[in-house]
Amino acid sequence: MTKQPRKRALLIVDVQNGFCPGGNLPVAEGDQIVPIINAMTASGFYDIVVVSQDWHPAGHGSFASTHGRNVFELGELGGQPQVMWPDHCVQNTKDAEFHPDLDMSKVAYTQQKGRDPNIDSYSAFRDNAEDKKTGLDTWLSQQGVYLLDVCGLATDYCVKFSALDAKRMMLRHVIVRFIEDASRGITPEGVDDAKKEMKKEGIEIIDSAVVLAKGAHRAEHDFLVNFHTALRKGVDTKWSIILWNYIHQIGRLEDDELRRDRMWPHFLKHVTRFWIEGLKPSEAAKKWAAMRDNYDTTLQDRFPASGVASTWQTMIELVDQDTWDQLDSTVEYWVDQQEADRLKEIADHG
Ligand SMILES: [Zn+2]
Repeated sequence: MTKQPRKRALLIVDVQNGFCPGGNLPVAEGDQIVPIINAMTASGFYDIVVVSQDWHPAGHGSFASTHGRNVFELGELGGQPQVMWPDHCVQNTKDAEFHPDLDMSKVAYTQQKGRDPNIDSYSAFRDNAEDKKTGLDTWLSQQGVYLLDVCGLATDYCVKFSALDAKRMMLRHVIVRFIEDASRGITPEGVDDAKKEMKKEGIEIIDSAVVLAKGAHRAEHDFLVNFHTALRKGVDTKWSIILWNYIHQIGRLEDDELRRDRMWPHFLKHVTRFWIEGLKPSEAAKKWAAMRDNYDTTLQDRFPASGVASTWQTMIELVDQDTWDQLDSTVEYWVDQQEADRLKEIADHG
């Protein structure tokens, strides 16, 4: 059996004193994400926890003081547009240390960045010229990561660029999600733009509840995991591929309501049929006919607001209770089986 990527990882971006209230480049409420992140790492959901750390030499080229400029002016560094930041996160200073309440006990890897005085590095994966890689992408791939959640400070800079690079630089099948409530940004407009950019790139935007709460967990995360399982096991390759394509297309059509509107009923039809057939092939046709009327009449105002989560949520609302009970127990069985397989493979292969 081919070794498949099995591990779930969390990348915590730059939760350092410098970016928290009282630091040199404070992000409003930056410290409020610490308990959320701690809860997530303590939950056991993640097999691997990674942190990035902004780690500048004194006199770094991104500092306004280095050029005698005003802070927050736009300048240039290493051939790239560069915001002139206040001096921050200078190596071996308190400003560069992680927030004292951040639970580091689960952290397996620390990726420092911004060490080259002549180029800044918002992303934990490479510098702003997209030239020198840090090696984090290779390290995560070698660990067998198939899901990478990204959170931290600041949403509109280092978190955004890290998430985008994860999506662009890691293998295509790796799922990347941005955890909104475990992150804070510098400006509201910057955060809005960052979310749009991430969505466009296929990065899902979630809350920590998806990681922490079992119900929400099932609604979103396991849905994706189950597709991966289905694809891996070849349980029903045809349906898996069809659905996978729809998921990607719907994700990309977030801002194109007209086309999404046309695609949505087809997607829902296939999703439903996939689950029913997976559940009880002998009853598929009967169930399918019964459910078709049900959701054909209620389609108009049922559009996904945030990709797969609401797609799944909508499906939950549409199926009748009996069907849902059957689906639920099947999903539960499937998830448990998948989790057992996953842990066994990690134990066997490391
Ligand atoms: Zn910096």
